[in-house]
This record gives sequence, structure tokens and C-alpha cells, in this order.
Amino acid sequence: MTIAPPDRDVRAAASVDRSIRLITSGQASGEACSPDLAKGPWEFDRGPVGYGPGSSMGDVIPTGSPRQGALPAEYREADAGELHERIRAAKATLGDRVVVLGHFYQRDEVVEHADFVGDSFQLANAALTRPDAEAIVFCGVHFMAETADLLSNPEQAVILPNLAAGCSMADMADESSVEECWEQLEEVYGDLTATDAAGRVPVIPVTYMNSSAALKGFVGRHGGIVCTSSNARTVLEWAFERGQRVLFFPDQHLGRNTAKAMGVPLEQMPMWNPRKALGGNSADELDDARVILWHGFCSVHKRFTVDQIAAARASHPGVQVIVHPECPMPVVDAADAAGSTDFIVKAIKAAPAGSTFAIGTEINLVQRLAAEYPQHEIFCLDPVVCPCSTMYRIHPGYLAWVLEELVAGRVVNRITVPGDVADPARLALERMLAAKPPITAPATGEAPAPTAAGA
Ligand code: SF4
Repeated sequence: MTIAPPDRDVRAAASVDRSIRLITSGQASGEACSPDLAKGPWEFDRGPVGYGPGSSMGDVIPTGSPRQGALPAEYREADAGELHERIRAAKATLGDRVVVLGHFYQRDEVVEHADFVGDSFQLANAALTRPDAEAIVFCGVHFMAETADLLSNPEQAVILPNLAAGCSMADMADESSVEECWEQLEEVYGDLTATDAAGRVPVIPVTYMNSSAALKGFVGRHGGIVCTSSNARTVLEWAFERGQRVLFFPDQHLGRNTAKAMGVPLEQMPMWNPRKALGGNSADELDDARVILWHGFCSVHKRFTVDQIAAARASHPGVQVIVHPECPMPVVDAADAAGSTDFIVKAIKAAPAGSTFAIGTEINLVQRLAAEYPQHEIFCLDPVVCPCSTMYRIHPGYLAWVLEELVAGRVVNRITVPGDVADPARLALERMLAAKPPITAPATGEAPAPTAAGA
């Protein structure tokens, strides 16, 4: 299920960008986590190494992360109205030659130009409905563009408007650290391909969709599988049929929340810290483990707290608290429900008029839902306006630039997964799809309803 791009009235009411500008200029009350959010991303793309303002601004960006080159001045200096008209005109010129995908967490000034709006996996599948499009412009983050490249035709160019739009969670598990972990696990468990009496290998690697193509390739090569936030339980069941335990990365919270709901005791879920020998565990602890959790997290969802839930309940009696499973376990436990973005959207859509929701996920989606469902009261659990730092790097200026380059016959910011990575990564994705019924055919103008929804 997807949300159609909102009309202009809804967009004006929903825009996080607008809220931030009003707050930082003193025209509205409230708090934004950084005044730099009111700047264009080109202000910090060429600056000191970092993810930029927003929820991930305290995270350490790995050396070698993709950087964005300078955006031509004509785009940096254009006002919102001019950029809107240039994007609209470029799309009209390109017609069916281009499809623009907008993630739920994108700013509304970008989402309004999207042909499809959804989560990462829904959008990759939406691109499949446009096999004749020469270019897929993915307004999301790097791993999402990689997944779209894995699933699209080789002739189609997948474009990420700002190359610096990564994902701090995905960056917390790099291929060399995971390879090193795998070698250490081999020292503890012995031959990782040897099976026990039940036909299970010692450990199955499972990666969340929010990971690099290199890691999807890693799990593909080692008998593992990809999961999303809505099929994580199904995928863990698949893995436990084939392995005595699971190595889950990069998001510890999704892994812990899912395994706990399946009855795995917390003491059998050790954390793997890649900076420590054996991840900071003893060989006995690893031997007893059922799920080894990588030390990764989403800085957007880490902001939600049990105290925020208590405050929401005190101020809004009868409120329904729904959070994303990337939130810490105490928050998920204290909420009324936890589920993927698709789950959250469906819950709100199905609720009787007059319902009240406190939502624990990225604020662009929450504010958009609040504007689209005025019959409900919907607010973000976190009172501080703090969008995903990297999603926020997709500014309309970058979208206008990549589209006008396409009009001029030039492809910029293409994301291509090398063949030696792509083949095992597709295998890991295919295993995930085989663990659930196949995707249903999409209706015109809507993204397909996938069997699994991601973040
Ligand atoms: S919301 Fe979290 S997981 Fe999603 S792109 Fe941002 S940092 Fe990554």
C-alpha cells in the first residue's frame, strides 16, 4: 500500500521543511534539533565530514562515504517556486522516459513530484511496473537506489539525486567488518557449512533491507537472506529452519524486537561490537546464542522514549501509540502496537474518525499522515522536529538538476551495483520473496502491494 502524492493544500499543511523554517525564524513555537536544517544541503555537502543536521548528526560517517559534487548555482539560488516549475516542466518533457520514486520519509516538496510514494521495497517494486522508463530517479537513500538497480532492467539508469544521501544505520555494518565477524564465528563454531543432525548449519546471516548491496551479496554467498521490517519474523523462521542461530545486521532493535516476540530469551541475543574481539562476547556466550545482534541502530527511531509515550498518554487519554520496530525494545514494549511504515499507514487508514495517534517514526511521514487524515488527531511522539539527516539531503534543487540533465541527454548520479555483487544480492532477495507469496500485479498509478514492506 502506498500514499498518493498529496495535493498542494495537504502539502502546505504537512511540510516539515516549512515547519523548520517557521521555528528557526521565530515565527512559530516549537523546537528543531538543528537550526542548520533550514539551510540547503549544499551548505554542508562540501563541509566537514558528517551526515548533516538532523537525527544522524551525532553519528560518525565512515571514511570513503560517497560525497556529492557542487550543485550548479542556478539550482542553489532558485527559490521554491522556480524549482517546482522546473521539476514539473522537466518531468513533462521526459514523460514516460522517467519515473520518480519518493520515500515516505522524504520532504513534501520532493514527494509532490513523485510518481510513486512508499517504503523502500514498495518503491523498488513500483519501478518494475515501468520497464520502459529509461531512468528511475530514486528520492530516498543510497541502499534504496542500489536495491532498485538490482531489481530493474540493466538498461535502466537508477539515479540518486544527492550522492551524499546515505543511511547512517546501513553504514554501521560495512562489508569488511562483517567478513571479519564471520571469520571469528568460524573459529568459534568450526566449519560454517557443516550441518547438525537436523540439517542446520551453525549460523545463518540475515541482513535488513537497510544495508548496502555488498552486504546483501555477503548473505547471498553464505546461505543467508534479506528481511524487511514487516517480514522479519517470517525471515527469522526461515533462518531457524536452516541454522542453529542467526547473525542479524545492521539493526539490533529490529532483530531484538522480532526475536523477543518469537520467544527468544534476551540472554540468548548477544550484541556483536565490531570493534571488540568476538564482538565483546565469550565463546560460551556465542555458543549459547540464538540471535547475534549487530551493534547498529537508526538514529531517527532511537530518539523515541518510554517517557514520550507516558507524556502522550497523559496529555491525550485514549491515544493509540504506534511505533516502528527500529525503536528500542522498551519503547516497542510500552507502545500499543509496532509495525513497519506500511503497517502504520494501514492502521491509521482503517481507524474510525476521531481516533488519536501518537506515532514513533520519521516526522515527514507523520506530518503528512496528519494532514491527509484530518478526521484523526495524529502527532509525532518526539516533540522535537528532527528529520532523518540523509533523507533530508534530497532537496528539490537536486531533483531539478538530475531531471534537467536527463532532458539534456546526460545521466548524472547513476547508482550501479557491480555484477559480482549483484548476483548473490539478488539471490538473497529472491530467498526473501520465496519465504512469502509472490507480489501481486500493480494497479496503474499505484505502487504494487508487496508481500513485504520495509522501512
Ligand atoms: S530513517 Fe534511519 S534507517 Fe531510514 S534512512 Fe534514515 S537513518 Fe537510515
